[in-house]
Amino acid sequence: MRKLLLKSLVQGPLTEPAPVPDDAALAELAQRLDGAARRRLGRSLAIREVDAGSCNACELEIHAINNVLYDLERFGLRFVASPRHADVLLITGPVTQNMRVALERTYAATPDPKWVVAVGNCARDGGVFAASSACVGGVSRVVPVDLHIAGCPPTPQALLGGLLALVEKVL
Ligand code: SF4
Repeated sequence: MRKLLLKSLVQGPLTEPAPVPDDAALAELAQRLDGAARRRLGRSLAIREVDAGSCNACELEIHAINNVLYDLERFGLRFVASPRHADVLLITGPVTQNMRVALERTYAATPDPKWVVAVGNCARDGGVFAASSACVGGVSRVVPVDLHIAGCPPTPQALLGGLLALVEKVL
């Protein structure tokens, strides 16, 4: 036991180092997104995130958009607390039976025009949880989806690229 404790004290962390974002590429992507949102919507993009049953790894990447490394609120990307203030619903996970009604209500509470982005492989078709009886399936089984961002989980840069594609091509 003492050996194990000593080893854990001198041994470095076993986790992988955090990915270093390409600051220039990130800033360009975010500025394009902010510019496109202001051109098309007349304001910045308001996003309501909905976890419909994910394993939370997609949420970690979505949270990363707002952390000190990415800090994308400076470019006008805003997460809002209510669907009533949102332009975009960012939905993760397979939709579980327990979240189905909540997702339908959230969609109904979001004012038009609104767009739905399904985030992660589970949101497309249930992913690794598809066979579970607790799972309804992908997000499109419950609400209409405008864009899907693939990945398990998608990186913050992939999330930004997806939102930019939404604003430039769908809106
Ligand atoms: S796509 Fe991957 S990371 Fe996202 S909820 Fe599914 S299993 Fe988790």
